[in-house]
Amino acid sequence: MHKQTRLTCTAINGLLVYNQVFKDNVKPCLLKNSQNHCSYCDEHSFNAGNLMIEHFKSVKFFPELEAEYSNLYTSCFACNNRKRDASYPTIEPLRPDDADYSFDKYFHFEPDTGKIILLDTNNLQAEATLTFLNLNNLDTRNARKNFVNDWIARKSRPSYSYRFIELPENNGK
Ligand SMILES: [Zn+2]
Repeated sequence: MHKQTRLTCTAINGLLVYNQVFKDNVKPCLLKNSQNHCSYCDEHSFNAGNLMIEHFKSVKFFPELEAEYSNLYTSCFACNNRKRDASYPTIEPLRPDDADYSFDKYFHFEPDTGKIILLDTNNLQAEATLTFLNLNNLDTRNARKNFVNDWIARKSRPSYSYRFIELPENNGK
């Protein structure tokens, strides 16, 4: 999960209902916030295909937040699908647009396994985030490992995806 900044979205001023007009107006704002990446796994739309509008707190449990801008992010189909039926954690998960969020503050990346590891195993909020967003699912771990292997083979960053990943010194340079 890469840091993002939520910009003001004037296009949805006065729109209160989550209908096609709302979606057409809000989506460009969300894509700008995430710079055309999935807000969770950070795949670029070039790899992930069309990104969808995703409700951080799902409409199933929080219908009142359906047209709440701060609850909306872009995500890839896979991330959206993985968290679709997940109940909301009792501990508030981290969000990519939290003011003080950065990947390095909470996590580190393990190139050999493709896993995202907690920096502080006692940080329940960071743990809830990994679980809620299912960021260490097998497909994504493998995709990250492939990304790293590509990087090392090419000696340069292979694509726009996984911007939070940095390789240890002497690799990928
Ligand atoms: Zn994703």
